Amino acid sequence: MAHIVIIGAGVGGTPLAYELRASLGREHRITVVNSTDYFQFVPSNPWLAVGWRSRDKITLPIGRHLARRGIDFIGLPVTRIDADGNTLHLADGRTLPYDYLVVTTGPRLAFEEVPGAGPEGHTQSVCTVDHAEQAWARYQEFLDDPGPIVIGAMPGASCFGPAYEYAFIVNADLKRRRLRKKVPITFVTSEPYIGHLGLAGVGDSKTLLESELRNHDIKWITNAKTTRVEAGKMFVTEVDANGATVKEHELPFKYSMMLPAFKGVDPVARVEGLCNPRGFVLVDEHQRSRKYRNLFAAGVCIAIPPVETTPVPTGAPKTGYMIETMVTAIAKNIQADLAGRPATAQGSWNAICLADMGSTGAAFVALPQIPPRNVNWFRKGRWVHWAKIGFEKYFLYKMKQGNSEPLYEKFMLRVLGIERLEQDSKAPH
Ligand SMILES: Cc1cc2nc3c(=O)[nH]c(=O)nc-3n(C[C@H](O)[C@H](O)[C@H](O)COP(=O)(O)OP(=O)(O)OC[C@H]3O[C@@H](n4cnc5c(N)ncnc54)[C@H](O)[C@@H]3O)c2cc1C
Repeated sequence: MAHIVIIGAGVGGTPLAYELRASLGREHRITVVNSTDYFQFVPSNPWLAVGWRSRDKITLPIGRHLARRGIDFIGLPVTRIDADGNTLHLADGRTLPYDYLVVTTGPRLAFEEVPGAGPEGHTQSVCTVDHAEQAWARYQEFLDDPGPIVIGAMPGASCFGPAYEYAFIVNADLKRRRLRKKVPITFVTSEPYIGHLGLAGVGDSKTLLESELRNHDIKWITNAKTTRVEAGKMFVTEVDANGATVKEHELPFKYSMMLPAFKGVDPVARVEGLCNPRGFVLVDEHQRSRKYRNLFAAGVCIAIPPVETTPVPTGAPKTGYMIETMVTAIAKNIQADLAGRPATAQGSWNAICLADMGSTGAAFVALPQIPPRNVNWFRKGRWVHWAKIGFEKYFLYKMKQGNSEPLYEKFMLRVLGIERLEQDSKAPH
């Protein structure tokens, strides 16, 4: 019997637990350890931050659902990983030995890299359900005394979609409240151009997103190095393609949401030889640690090189479908390893994303993630708005049911009309 422990019951870790349970015999034990006793559907946080969702609609008491599938759950943070001794140390002092460890701990939000940034400073965040709730509380105060808004992404950010999404959602919400005319909105991003998305653009994302921002009177600053934030004021250095300063901006705001750069969470980052300098797990093409061969990792916590160097640092996004392909590879590889076969499964790491814009939305598909690509498109339409809502309901329903099918693949690819994903297939499509 083997004991497989997953750290993180998020978008990657929870489906992985179900997938492993479905593929491994009952003689093997599976335990999920998560900082909190709930699962949160992170992609819905931007809606919570304008009051279009409530916390109970996008979180689940996950231990109960996992238990129904015979998966153990511990709702406590892991404080230390003893990777040589195959043991986790938990926040209550307990230890948990494992045979295989899978790390799906998502990001640590590195607000400290920009003084004054973050929910404990002067900007809001939608990265966690707690942050989104705080952002919603601040937004309600703002509605009584509206003024300029700044939304965007800090230097080193890798996740840009939710910043655009939140800008368009706030714009739509203010229009519904007939307050938009009182609110100048500026989009401030470390991307070299609008629509770069950490992916060197996808299809015509630059033209399409610029046009959307223009159509909705949202100004923008790209190549933006946000250097510090004070109460009601953001300091931004705009640079050119060579990184030389073009302009210093002092942007007044009454409300701001800025996505931070990500790092790896502390107990993972501290494991000797496991991570890169920013604390992201170094894995091989089979999602396996290069140093600890019984340790796998998936999702935002793994190290992926930037798609290209940009004047202000940006990273490559790790989106849901891409994470799902990593998770499926890990489930297959652990199964193979247990059976004494070579663990050779590989995730495709393709980027697929739906972003809501209030009543419409934008979808992109980048296969593979690094250009040139076999599939490369970016489209806008009301169907994306509805597809995103549909996907939220579908994902949460499947997490309650303990479904082990690849959810993004089943739902998203059908919605997007993509049938095959084998990038390396020699057969003509
Ligand atoms: C606001 C936002 C919106 C997004 N929207 C989309 C979208 O629409 N579509 C898309 O494809 N992608 C989206 N993404 C990107 C990505 O899909 C999500 O970030 C996704 O949640 C990443 O999954 P994950 O499993 O890596 O991390 P998470 O889902 O963040 O899960 C990590 C889990 O690890 C736990 N954890 C962390 N540290 C510890 C510890 N020490 N001990 C125990 N547990 C720990 C956390 O509590 C958490 O439950 C979005 C990202 C953000 C930030």
